[in-house]
Parts: sequence; structure tokens; C-alpha cells
Amino acid sequence: MTDSTTAVQTEADRLAEQIDVDALRAKYRQERDRRIRPDGASQYRRAAGSFGYYAKDPYTARVDRVPITTDVEVLVIGGGFGGLVTAARLRESGVEDIRIMDEAGDFGGTWYWNRYPGIHCDIESYVYMPLLEEVGTVPKWRYAPGEEIRQHAMAIGRTFDLYRDTLFQTRATELRWDEETSVWDVSTDRGDRFRARFVITSSGTLTEPKLPGIPGIETFQGHTFHTSRWDYGYTGGNADGGLSGLADKRVAVVGTGATGIQVVPHVARDAEHLFVFQRTPSTIGVRDNRPTDPEWAASLRPGWQRERQENFIRTISGAPVDEDLTQDGWTETARIQRTMITGTVDESVEPAERERLDELLDFQKMNELRARVDEVVEDPATAEALKPWYRYMCKRPGFSDLYLQAFNEPNVTLVDTADAGGITRMTETGVVVGDTEYAVDCVVFATGFEVGVSGVLSGTLPVYGRDGTTLLEAWARGPRTLHGFTTHGFPNLFQLGPLQNANSVNFVHILQDQAEHIAELVRIARAEGARYVEPTEAAQEAWVRVIADRAIDNDDFRAECTPGYYNREGSATSGNTSFGPGPVVFRDVLQQWRARHVDEVMVA
Ligand code: NDP
Repeated sequence: MTDSTTAVQTEADRLAEQIDVDALRAKYRQERDRRIRPDGASQYRRAAGSFGYYAKDPYTARVDRVPITTDVEVLVIGGGFGGLVTAARLRESGVEDIRIMDEAGDFGGTWYWNRYPGIHCDIESYVYMPLLEEVGTVPKWRYAPGEEIRQHAMAIGRTFDLYRDTLFQTRATELRWDEETSVWDVSTDRGDRFRARFVITSSGTLTEPKLPGIPGIETFQGHTFHTSRWDYGYTGGNADGGLSGLADKRVAVVGTGATGIQVVPHVARDAEHLFVFQRTPSTIGVRDNRPTDPEWAASLRPGWQRERQENFIRTISGAPVDEDLTQDGWTETARIQRTMITGTVDESVEPAERERLDELLDFQKMNELRARVDEVVEDPATAEALKPWYRYMCKRPGFSDLYLQAFNEPNVTLVDTADAGGITRMTETGVVVGDTEYAVDCVVFATGFEVGVSGVLSGTLPVYGRDGTTLLEAWARGPRTLHGFTTHGFPNLFQLGPLQNANSVNFVHILQDQAEHIAELVRIARAEGARYVEPTEAAQEAWVRVIADRAIDNDDFRAECTPGYYNREGSATSGNTSFGPGPVVFRDVLQQWRARHVDEVMVA
């Protein structure tokens, strides 16, 4: 047995003496079983068709314009951080003719749509917000409010002169490769026709709001909206609060995920009465947000952001670092949950011993979080209902210093729907759980997003490659890419996203790396006069095998979890197709590939 294994075993034995493992396992299983539903992921409704008004843009009035027919060198679909950083890097390398396209009314992506009161990023802003040094700013808060992040996205647009040709309120409806002229024919919902040499898609992963499949949802006659389309016209106030329109309203918030826990304290402050409809409680760790120390900001030297981002991604990936610069709930979590967050496996330790210690550390962490609920929440029954009973990474961890406290307010009622399996039905005037109806004026759905529904994967943007084959046809046996970016038969098309690529909780850092890689490929193609960039079938198949061979199999873990979008509502598979060894190793893979093999994708 190795020294590392012995050390792990000793630590596990110590914890096992303090923790009733069997009782906790049984409790977790019981909670999972009562939440499992036969309809799984099909329980939800898309915010489309007769529910389309839930997805309408409440922030920017639609502006009519004439269709545009033009040639463009680089078309970027998506004006969130992925698209913005790609376009910024292309500008830096001298590309003038760039056109960004987005359905939203401005830049920001997620941060354009999500403006609900209390919105903050739950990743440290100094590592989350991209291009801080290039824009010449330091965030004002450790965890930035959404509006600051949205403004930053707009500032990137200004800094890199990206507003120039951007088309907002425009959705690409078809991409069709023209082999004769080696360009993409692009159609939009505004009747535009572009002939684009390169097309880059960064259309997001959690973009389409979803609604719970509650019987009678359409009969409700009060006001209703989704958190990602907050109706300030009705509530008054802004993302900082001041929701004066709710002063005489009984409000229901449905959902207690990462969004719900940010929204609840603000609605609690201003509504006459708030009912929080909870099915599964989130974990609520300490947030400890604070303003940026001006002395620290003044002391930062060029290159500071990249250094800090590197430090964060290495820390949470289990790669060696001298010091954890961020020191927050995520980096702490990564120390005890390495396998679940990053897929990193310490090979010097016997897997069974590592797994045993992981589980015990998890129980310990969850015990602490449940104890925190008891410390904060005064009413014992409410506290009991707010306690999460599952393994820590079964759901996205939550952090807040305001959420649990809100349940001590006399105008806030927690409605635990777990026994009823969620909300039973809605009526014209309220929300019913079991036999009890809660009469409300307004229902706010904090019920999350369709996963993987955006862009090319869903077929909402049909992509016809060489010979008229669609991308989805080419992927009939599963996605086939080289490094997640390019696909044989679809020249000069680059995709950003987690598919067959690295993933991390700081997803914007991943997008930043992807953007730099794609911009570099385009730069090389232009410099070498390549007609197009396209992987060979052999290179692509080799990468598909790498993804399969090195995938971390978390399915057993996920199968034991309470349902949620992390485990496709209780089906064992997470559907994860990311690069198993994690983002730090992935970056090395790309660097080596660029040094040795980049010419293989440049077709003259
Ligand atoms: P989630 O999918 O995480 O949560 C949806 C919530 O709605 C859950 O609490 C769910 O309960 C509940 N729900 C669904 N159907 C019903 C029903 N029929 N009755 C009662 N409750 C129901 O969505 P979020 O918007 O909270 O978060 C989505 C993702 O967005 C996050 O995981 C994160 O990746 C991202 N995000 C990031 C933030 C950041 O700061 N970086 C902030 C906010 C979101 P149940 O758990 O039982 O299914």
C-alpha cells in the first residue's frame, strides 16, 4: 500500500468514527426516491408556442430594419462572453470584417437576459469577468452584481469596436456551405443573407427558460413571468431591489436553485407576502461578498488577471499551486470534491480508499451545511425543511448570506412541496400543494433552463455542410469533432461550448481559452491563405475516441443523486461529453497540437 493510501485510510477512519454513514446513506436514498418522477426530464414545458410570452425580451423594444445582403469575413453567432472574446481576439489579430449576431438587444448573453433582483455571479469576479486588463477595469465587488457584468460585456464591445457591424435582435435560421465559393450562406429571421467565410457559434448552453409541467399553469389569471425575463414594469425597482410594485402583492417564487436563492431575499424585502415553493432545497454555503479593496486593486501588476485565472482553474482542477489566491467556497469544495468537480483522479491512492474518504468528507461538509440552517433559521420546522439531503455535487452548490435569513421574516412562508412531489396544480387565483391553495397575485418561475437546447445541437439552427448533409445527421451516432471546435464536412465552422471540450465551474474562463484557440486558427488560415480549416475524418475520430476513453464515469454517483439537470432528472447518465482530464490538461493538449499539427487542418 502506498503512503498516500495509508494517509487517506487514516483520515477516513477518523471521520468514520464521527459520522453515521449507514443512516445518512439511507436518508439520502429515501429523499431521492420520493423526488424521482416517472416523467423525468419530460415534466417541463418549453417557453415556446402558447408559452412563448415567457421568453419574450422585456428589456429592449423590437426595432424594424431592412434585410441586409452582404459578404462578411467572420460571422460570430452569439454576443455573450464566448462570442465577444473571440471577436476581440480576432480584432487584435487584425480582422476588420467581423459581424456579431444575437437575438438579444445588446451584448451580454446570460447577463443580458438574467437581470432579476439580487443577481450576482457566484464565481469570483476577478477570475470570471474576461478581458479586465484589456478593458482597463477592476470589478467593484468580489462577486459582481449582474448589472456590472452586463456593463462589462458592453465595455468589451466598445473597447474592441465590436458594435460597428453587430446585428442585435437577429437570429440565424440556417447555415449552408457553398462548396464552389467556399463560403457559408447564412439566413436570418430578418430576411438577411450573408456569405460568410468563417462562422463561429457561441450560442450558450442554458438559454431557453423552462417552465414546470404543473397542471393548470395556463389557467392562472394573475401576473407571471420567468426570472430570466424579469418584469420590472410590474415589480418596480431594479436588480438592487426596491420592488415597490410588490408592496401590496402576494408573490409566489417557484424554484430554489442558484437563481431562486438570489431572488428570494429581495422579494421577501418588498412583497406584502412571499411564498417560496420548494421541491428540493439547495445547499447554502457562506458567501462573504465584499467590495474590492482599493489598495489591492492599485497594487495589481500587468498580467494579474491571467495569473489569477490560472491559479483558480488549477486549484479547482487539483493541479499543484503554491497558494490558493481565491480561497472561497469553490476552491474549498474542490479540495474535498476533486473527482466530482474536475474529474481529476489522484492515481497514487487506491480508488476504493479515495472513494470512501470522498464520501465521508462529503457527509461532513453536508452536516456542516445542515447545521448552518439550524443556526440561522429560527423556526425549527422551516429549518428542517430547508435542509438538503444529498451528496454535495448532486446539485450546483449555492452560496448566500441572505437567503436562509429571509425565512425569519414574518411575511415569508416556505411551502415544502416535497411530499406532494412538487406543486400539485395551479388555479386561476393561486398555487395548490396537496389540498392547500395559496392565493397569490403573482407567480415568478425560478425554474431554470432547457439544457442543450440552444443552437446547432437542438436543430433550431440547421447547418448544412458539404453535400447538403446536416450537422445533426453527421452526428447521428453522437457528436464528432476535433477538440470540440470543428467537424469534418463542415469547413470553416467553429463551435464554442462544453461539447468534447474542457469544462469547469468557471465556464467563462473555458470560453476565453476556446475563443483564443479559434481566433488563432482563423489568424493562421488567413496568414497562410488557406481556403478553409477542416479536420480530417481520421483526426476527428481519434478525438472522439480520446473523449470516450478518458471520460470520467460518474454515472453511479449521479444515479444516487436527487433529480435535477445535473443527472437529467434522475436518469443515471449525466450525458457528459467533456474532456475527462480537465481544463489544465486540455490546454496542454491544444498547445502541443497547435505546435505540431495545426497545418493538418489548413486546406489550401
Ligand atoms: P435550476 O434548474 O437549478 O433550478 C430550478 C428550480 O426549480 C429547482 O429548485 C427545481 O426543484 C424547481 N422546480 C422545477 N419544477 C418544479 C415544480 N414542479 N415544483 C416546484 N419546484 C420546481 O435553475 P436555476 O435558474 O436556479 O439555475 C440554473 C443554472 O444557472 C445554475 O445551475 C447555474 O449553472 C446557473 N446560474 C448561475 C448563477 C451564477 O451566479 N453563476 C446564478 C444563477 C444561475 P428541483 O431541484 O426539485 O428540481
